[in-house]
Amino acid sequence: MLEQIATAAYVVAALLFVLALAGLSKHETSRAGISFGIVGMAIALIATIALAINHEIEPVGLALLAVAMLVGAAIGLWRARIVEMTGMPELIALLHSFVGLAAVLVGWNGYLHIEAHPEGADTLAMAAEGMLGIHSAEVVIGVFIGAVTFTGSIVANLKLSARMKSAPMMLPGKNIINVGTLVVFAALTAWFVIDPQLWLLAVVTVLALLLGWHLVASIGGGDMPVVVSMLNSYSGWAAAAAGFLLGNDLLIITGALVGSSGAYLSYIMCKAMNRSFISVIAGGFGIEAGPSDDQDYGEHREITAEGVAELLTGADTVVITPGYGMAVAQAQYGVADLTRKLRERGVNVRFGIHPVAGRLPGHMNVLLAEAKVPYDIVLEMDEINDDFDNTAVVLVIGANDTVNPAASEDPSSPIAGMPVLTVWNADNVVVFKRSMASGYAGVQNPLFFRENTQMLFGDARDRVNDILAAM
Ligand code: NDP
Repeated sequence: MLEQIATAAYVVAALLFVLALAGLSKHETSRAGISFGIVGMAIALIATIALAINHEIEPVGLALLAVAMLVGAAIGLWRARIVEMTGMPELIALLHSFVGLAAVLVGWNGYLHIEAHPEGADTLAMAAEGMLGIHSAEVVIGVFIGAVTFTGSIVANLKLSARMKSAPMMLPGKNIINVGTLVVFAALTAWFVIDPQLWLLAVVTVLALLLGWHLVASIGGGDMPVVVSMLNSYSGWAAAAAGFLLGNDLLIITGALVGSSGAYLSYIMCKAMNRSFISVIAGGFGIEAGPSDDQDYGEHREITAEGVAELLTGADTVVITPGYGMAVAQAQYGVADLTRKLRERGVNVRFGIHPVAGRLPGHMNVLLAEAKVPYDIVLEMDEINDDFDNTAVVLVIGANDTVNPAASEDPSSPIAGMPVLTVWNADNVVVFKRSMASGYAGVQNPLFFRENTQMLFGDARDRVNDILAAM
């Protein structure tokens, strides 16, 4: 009886997960989407624990389960409460690594339970049904996907938290390494299905760990948004593989939902950023090291906060293009005040938001909404790009890669082809940043050396406050 109730609960949870994804696709319904997800996960957990108790789990096992859940929930709540918006992508990357690790552990556990005991009752029963080969394939594929996800996500976490350089690692023959590893994996899988030896599984695990590391390390900073969503997809497939091994339908459904929606999101992002989907998922396949960037761009000009205040007072149209630096400096409140002041004086102020500005999609929109900037003056890149020709002043606040003309003008640039905000077409451009350092993609920005550009150095929040004071 309990089994049937648990199966029904799994169906309800699966439906709630579908509703969660549907809700999350629009910001009006995203809160409802999150609630569906929470309720679905609670139902799934209760049903799984009830099933475990029904299967007469030993008291030690039950105690371990309870402790693991309490510790996990406590750490999860703590991290979610303290995480800054700028730290979200790296936290998400870390969470993906846990899914990958879980899939590896489930796979190894499956092996130790079945294949490691050829004369065991469960193994003989499985062999009699002709299912042993399928089990072995599930083990080795699950371990492979899980291990790739695990190390790939750790590298993504290190890159996003700036503990590892965001520039792509360029090993000689990197494409051959990736394709070669896949071929070896396919051969080892066949071998393992025929003759499931411990050392084979160990070799596959090590190969997959190295491949995950290499795949993500080979991708440059500009493509990181796609990598995060791609790892999200991998973590889904890893969960689905674990679901097959554990015979858990809900895990298979959930994994497939996450896997396919993550893959689709990666595809949409690649289209929006004019990148090749295959190249990104194959660890920068086809991208070779470009010429080193030691070009002399000339001198840059500086401006003071008072100078910017004067420029703004005389302007009729102003466009603000914020980026990651505005989030770091928490300058959005000052920017909102500045916007209000300028609008009161009759200046037409609008915002231009690049799809990957900041460190997660929608990052800038959330910050500006938080500071109560009216929605109707916050425009997407495509809506504003044609208007820069008729703009008196552009304020680039802590943005760099997203306003880099090299993306459209220099085919050898690592961000070549990525659409950017064409701010340089305006009469005056003021760039707020602390130094001449490059942006996340690690490439120099010729915008800073253009004749109509002036640099306003310092923390963006301080400088915006200085401008407000000067006005
Ligand atoms: P960038 O990282 O290109 O540039 C941010 C700029 O802000 C830097 O040049 C930095 O210069 C400046 N800055 C940092 N702190 C401050 C501060 N306190 N005050 C003033 N300036 C500051 O950001 P963009 O938003 O333009 O571009 C986003 C990049 O991140 C793209 O390469 C994108 O691909 C990548 N990315 C995006 C993700 C997404 O989903 N949106 C996810 C992961 C990566 P300085 O140090 O000199 O101050």
